[in-house]
Amino acid sequence: MSNTTTGLQEPSFRESVDIMFNRAVALMDLPPGLEEKIRVCNATYTVRFGVRLRGKIETFTGYRSVHSEHMEPVKGGIRFSLGVNQNEVEALAALMTYKCALVETPFGGSKGGLCIDPRAWDDDEMERITRRFAYELIKRDLINPSQNVPAPDMGTGEREMAWIADQYKRMNTTDINGAACVTGKPAHAGGIQGRVEATGRGVQYALQEFFRHPEDIKIAGLSGKLDGKRVVVQGLGNVGYHAASFLSAEDGCIITGIIERDGALSDENGLEVEAVHAWIAKHGGVKGYPTGTYVENGASVLEQDCDILIPAALEGVINLGNAARIKAPLIIEAANGPVTAGADEVLRDKGTVIIPDMYANAGGVTVSYFEWVKNLSHIRFGRMQRRQEESRHELIVGELQKLSEHLGDQWSMTPDFKTKYLRGAGELELVRSGLDDTMRTAYQAMRDMWHSRDDVHDLRTAAYLVSIGRVASSYQAKGL
Ligand code: GLU
Repeated sequence: MSNTTTGLQEPSFRESVDIMFNRAVALMDLPPGLEEKIRVCNATYTVRFGVRLRGKIETFTGYRSVHSEHMEPVKGGIRFSLGVNQNEVEALAALMTYKCALVETPFGGSKGGLCIDPRAWDDDEMERITRRFAYELIKRDLINPSQNVPAPDMGTGEREMAWIADQYKRMNTTDINGAACVTGKPAHAGGIQGRVEATGRGVQYALQEFFRHPEDIKIAGLSGKLDGKRVVVQGLGNVGYHAASFLSAEDGCIITGIIERDGALSDENGLEVEAVHAWIAKHGGVKGYPTGTYVENGASVLEQDCDILIPAALEGVINLGNAARIKAPLIIEAANGPVTAGADEVLRDKGTVIIPDMYANAGGVTVSYFEWVKNLSHIRFGRMQRRQEESRHELIVGELQKLSEHLGDQWSMTPDFKTKYLRGAGELELVRSGLDDTMRTAYQAMRDMWHSRDDVHDLRTAAYLVSIGRVASSYQAKGL
């Protein structure tokens, strides 16, 4: 299939994922036939429905694909974009299976999409379209707390998830677990704090973990810490914006390039993420932004000299047409599938280190898991842990009190120490620490595979090996 942007012969997104899967599976010793069972998509449902809008019936096409049900519910976002098609949804569903296995969230993989330009319709119209799409999926148990739990993806967010949850509750009034039918809901509608930032936050934690391993930093041809690294971000949507914002504000990274739909900004002294983000919200693009250089051919900034490249928008942006010219020694795939299978090979040969999508952007589904558990447990999330922490803190404060009495004038606790110390962790802190822990553990599993086997030369293959191994064990344990 030829790539629409480059015109070069490249496999489709779905084929690209399969090529990467096959490369890993060739290094495994799976029972006959299991490899095929894991690779294929179990089912893809296509729906065409009409909604009366602006005096005429508009017909929309949507999909929900279930890749693997080795664990249920299956999980994955719903994308609203004109580019949505069956091939894309199936590739994304497959990636969800591998992603969930890698970060050990107990879900199978699924993905959905609706062919629509969300900017072409007003809020009321979008609500009617979303509810109607949700109705079609709920009717067939393709949205259900115990079977299939969607979440936001490109073109969707809290607003759409709230409509979907409400639609489910209207159709299942006696389901006490109804809120768990979808994640990424607003905090006041059964959501969890930290879900909106989660994928970007996960990208930050992934990079922090990478930079804790001097051997890995060296393989990428880099040195030192994350602090001061020059970063180019492609796409300042929800994922790219949060990743860039945290990396610059908290880790000292310098954002030297931001690529958007209408062009790119480049500035060796660093761009101000918040200001650029606000500019885009106001002007619809980066053009005219007062500092840095505006580059009309935005894609060329992908090839700009930098330390870390973060593709955070669409699949296939790094392909056979530009892979050889990419200078970044480290790429972290905040988007799903931004590097085609062909480009992956070119980059591997060049020695570029790629932190793969199924790990790099797993922050979203990890926090979705926390939200789902919160909804099912019907408890204010964090309450138990908070109580435990408080008793531990009380114990320590008690010991310090004794110590300060013993030391007399030499040392005493400041008056607000106790109150500060006892404040404990709220929901957001718990979510962030759970996410950090997940990102560290998953990286270590992946890197152990990378470094312990002579036949594994890259993190993507290592990630596939870990996750396929887990999916295979789960099929073998429960039978087919
Ligand atoms: N759409 C996100 C992804 O691609 C989140 C999925 C989820 O939370 O279920 O990983």
